Amino acid sequence: MPKPSTCIANAAFGKYRWVIRLMSGLILKWKFNYKTMHIPVIRTNKSRLAAYDFTNIQFGPNPTDHLFTADYQNGEWTNAEVKPFGEFLISPLALCLHYGQTVFEGMKAFRVADGGVSIFRRDKHLLRLNRSLERMCMPAVPEALFYEALDALVGLDEGWVSGLTGNSLYLRPIVIASEVRLGVLEANAYKFMIVALPMANYYDGTVKVKVETEYTRAAKGGAGFAKCGGNYGGAFLPTRLARQAGFDQVLWTDGDTHSYIEESGTMNVMFAINGTLITPPLNGTILDGVNRDSILTLAKDRGMTTEERPIGYQELETAFKNGAEIEAFGVGTAAVLTQIREIDILGQSYFPVTPNDGIAASLRDELNAIRTGRLPDRYGWNHLVASPEKAELAE
Ligand SMILES: *Cc1c(COP(=O)(O)O)cnc(C)c1O
Repeated sequence: MPKPSTCIANAAFGKYRWVIRLMSGLILKWKFNYKTMHIPVIRTNKSRLAAYDFTNIQFGPNPTDHLFTADYQNGEWTNAEVKPFGEFLISPLALCLHYGQTVFEGMKAFRVADGGVSIFRRDKHLLRLNRSLERMCMPAVPEALFYEALDALVGLDEGWVSGLTGNSLYLRPIVIASEVRLGVLEANAYKFMIVALPMANYYDGTVKVKVETEYTRAAKGGAGFAKCGGNYGGAFLPTRLARQAGFDQVLWTDGDTHSYIEESGTMNVMFAINGTLITPPLNGTILDGVNRDSILTLAKDRGMTTEERPIGYQELETAFKNGAEIEAFGVGTAAVLTQIREIDILGQSYFPVTPNDGIAASLRDELNAIRTGRLPDRYGWNHLVASPEKAELAE
């Protein structure tokens, strides 16, 4: 049933209806053409930046001064704005709280060598965000909205991107079903937000992992390739059990046979066996990691042999027993690259090497150097953000 206002408009302007439609279409197009639209910004008058200690970053509870928010209503993204970070009200009937229609991204901005700020591989993060949203029956985020939201937020909170070695600004876009209407159904209303938090080296040590042969992270046909909240919730219990048994995290295996390695905790996993870089293929149960792709790209460029193929724990076991030179590591945005020093396969421990100057370490260093502008950006991975002051001057 059309809304009363539409009925009145139709009755009053019946024969001009198509003109009205055309005009409102044009207005909508103009309004939502984020290429030309500047996202309104409400600046905080209580910045916490001066008091923030970048030499002792506590990641998690400490966001930057602002956040980005937008709403999806009546088939359109609207109300895009950057405003002071703060809580928002949510009804207990909001659908995200019940059926898990939540999707997120994790990406980073870096202080680059010449003093500017760069966002790493925003195009790849947008593609993945929209693939995740599609899987969860949620509306896509248009490219221009995503890019402009990131530019507006990171530009405004530029001072939070510390140039200290290893520091970055972690960016967390999320989309949640905000419709207030209990019932098992796809929501019609969503919220898109981006929050930003300073981050130091997330983890610089090595980990001890256990091949998980009982629990499954993702099954064929499931949502394992989507960055949705439920994938993490379901991983907590097996991870807790592994910690209680003395490991840092689990090496996930495939849900069908529990014999092929899939991921390492919340990271993609790679093995360098006698100089060949091997990583499980993107088959629907594995998350298409931006760092996985970046490391593979760098390795190929060096002329290394890379293989994206299933790798069973039995193959690993055999390689260890044959005395192969094995490096094993996880790759992901938060920690970048984490070397694995011990792998438990059905109760038996194996020890990959973790050299400071091996394959893993040198690929990590090259990636870090590209992201921070210390090496040329030869793949166009860095998007430089103009600070709002500079952008105004340029207009
Ligand atoms: C996010 C994520 C990764 C890593 O992806 P990056 O884009 O490299 O951060 C790997 N596995 C899972 C399950 C993830 O959610």
